[in-house]
Amino acid sequence: MAIYVYKFGGTSVGTIERIKAVAEKVKAAHTGGDAIVVVVSAMSGETNRLIDLAKQMQSQPNERELDVLISTGEQVTTALLSMALTQLDCPACSYTGGQVRILTDSIHTKARIRAIDDTRIHADLKAGKVVVVAGFQGVDEFGNITTLGRGGSDTTAVALAAALKADECHIYTDVDGVYTTDPRIEPKARRLNQITFEEMLEMASLGSKVLQIRSVEFAGKYNVKLRVLSSFIEGNGTLITYEDTQVESALISGIAFNRDEAKLTLSGVPDMPGIASKILAPIAHENIEIDMIIQNISAKGTTDFTFTVHRNDFLKAKKILATIAVELGAKEVSGDDRIVKVSIVGVGMRSHAGIASTMFKALAEEGINIQMISTSEIKISVVVDEKYLELAVRTLHAAFNLDEAPLS
Ligand code: ADP
Ligand code: ASP
Ligand code: MG
Repeated sequence: MAIYVYKFGGTSVGTIERIKAVAEKVKAAHTGGDAIVVVVSAMSGETNRLIDLAKQMQSQPNERELDVLISTGEQVTTALLSMALTQLDCPACSYTGGQVRILTDSIHTKARIRAIDDTRIHADLKAGKVVVVAGFQGVDEFGNITTLGRGGSDTTAVALAAALKADECHIYTDVDGVYTTDPRIEPKARRLNQITFEEMLEMASLGSKVLQIRSVEFAGKYNVKLRVLSSFIEGNGTLITYEDTQVESALISGIAFNRDEAKLTLSGVPDMPGIASKILAPIAHENIEIDMIIQNISAKGTTDFTFTVHRNDFLKAKKILATIAVELGAKEVSGDDRIVKVSIVGVGMRSHAGIASTMFKALAEEGINIQMISTSEIKISVVVDEKYLELAVRTLHAAFNLDEAPLS
């Protein structure tokens, strides 16, 4: 008996009609003889609505209570889908993350999965039932409800697929696969039949929200066969591959962007050993993730230190920096939360020189100023003013020949 984990995102379960359509699809697979575990997101817009309610109550909501609140969205969908399946004479049973026992750490709103108890699911599958699990949530060792960060249902699905040793994990969404860039920004974007795990990891970590980064990390760690497909149209979608099987891999596979970044600078810091850690340790201590870091060449014994954080953490990080600035005798703290990061990704980059200069030349020709640069073996990222986001993405998409050939 093959085991499949299917995950349906918010738009795919956005209305009663759509939930019924999902039930039809699941029933067809189940009738075909496969064991099916379904992970569902909240109905589209619901998580945002719940976050908004919390903010009306507390400008910075208590994170434990926020998790109790926002985890309810997924619970609604599990029950409705189970009912829809039962209506179709397909035996089904719904569970919250805590009921399955998806055990997480205690970092509310961005918890990580530690272990999954699959006993209950296996028993239900053996009894011929479809198991419907609420995505995005778990429970910590003290019994508190936790959530896994925005887009976290992807991670629930892949983690379950790993725990159950599923044959394949299907992420059903509102696009029919992974594209060369977000088709909402560049309509000329092309669907990729396959993408290497390494590239998908970079794309997700650089902002392509078609898959939550942690889901890709899980897939890589446990070798989960992962595919992104459309809930609405038939097709093979995009397979995430673990070896580069393409005979001739493209130079650049995709363009990713992240609008959620903000930049902070501490200028006139005394240039001496230990300074970077003195600046960054208090930031890390507050669980603020740091992305790009630049330290200038020192001039007259002082240097400038710039880094980026998530926009949500901008004010918090700025406040911490202000205290550090006084302690270190730095000149000034400044920041900009109107920046974005645009990146090109491709394993083909490894064996080719001149990619960076093509990228920078294309941006320069459009008058786009680059504020920060960071590179790795398979990606180059630049920070630019947010007003250039669309232009930068489209310019790079064309510069690296990713545009779909016009229909003749
Ligand atoms: P779901 O609710 O199903 O989880 P998401 O909104 O989280 O769906 O993810 C799907 C969306 O991801 C698409 O509608 C698309 O706008 C966006 N996206 C961003 N980058 C890409 C990409 N490279 N390929 C496909 N979709 C992308
Ligand atoms: N509902 C959650 C969110 O909107 C989780 C998910 O959809 O994956 O982020
Ligand atoms: Mg998603």
